[in-house]
Amino acid sequence: MSTEVHHFKVGAFECIAVSDGSLTYAPPTFPPPATLLFGNAPRERLEQTLRQHNIQPEHWAEWISPYICLLVNTGEHRVLVDTGADGLDPNTGRLLQNLEAEGIVPEDIDMVILTHCHPDHIGGNTLEEGKLAFPNARYAMWKDEWDFWTSEQAEEKLDEHVREVLLRVARKNLPPIQDRLDLIEREREIVPGVQAITAPGHTPGHMALAISSEGEQLLCISDAVLHPIHLEQPEWFAVVDLDPEQVVATRRRILNRAAAKKALVLAFHFPFPGLGYVIEKGEGWQWQPIVTMV
Ligand SMILES: [Zn+2]
Repeated sequence: MSTEVHHFKVGAFECIAVSDGSLTYAPPTFPPPATLLFGNAPRERLEQTLRQHNIQPEHWAEWISPYICLLVNTGEHRVLVDTGADGLDPNTGRLLQNLEAEGIVPEDIDMVILTHCHPDHIGGNTLEEGKLAFPNARYAMWKDEWDFWTSEQAEEKLDEHVREVLLRVARKNLPPIQDRLDLIEREREIVPGVQAITAPGHTPGHMALAISSEGEQLLCISDAVLHPIHLEQPEWFAVVDLDPEQVVATRRRILNRAAAKKALVLAFHFPFPGLGYVIEKGEGWQWQPIVTMV
């Protein structure tokens, strides 16, 4: 199996999970993974949980996170969900070449949906010189997200360690899409079969998507959870989650929905292709990745 693209179907929709690459989160740029991902977890409980996931707590020095974008061909539209992190790191920015290897050129995309405005989700909106990477596309995002990143709120609320890079990427990649942007204010379809779902907390206007065709559904949950352990411990939030209380409420609602509907789920930062099912387990949930052939 390629580790760069994964084809699958949702009803009649042809979908491709496309890797944009990965980033290694480690000190000194980032806090150690356990702090980054589970900042408020009680230490003993955390160490026990990590061991259950075959992670040795004392040796967990780095977290290599995949960046996974999604292409959906609905027949009527070619929809790209998130644009990756072009230019953030030598190991990111592979979205365009991976699409091209599938015979898809940027001009083919007519709708780009941005789940939120962190650098790994909007970094491929523009090319190096500032031109739009997807010249024929309209763009869509939740209105609260646009308002946050284009106002002084972002500067005030962002952690000082990440503020500079987050604002730099937002200021490069958001203004060029302004005149071709649909701002979402309520849960509704963006194109037929692709519905916006409010999922705030990670950022103020973070959005999930329900992609439905012929009775099948894919829930694209983006960064509502960052690591499979967040399903078991939804109250353990990450340093990069802006509003922890809201994150926990959003996780419970989205994970409940995924489990109840037995929907296929795509999580942006999970091991590639980021696809699986959410199974109820005890007080929480458990991640069951799809079986992929190697
Ligand atoms: Zn992310």
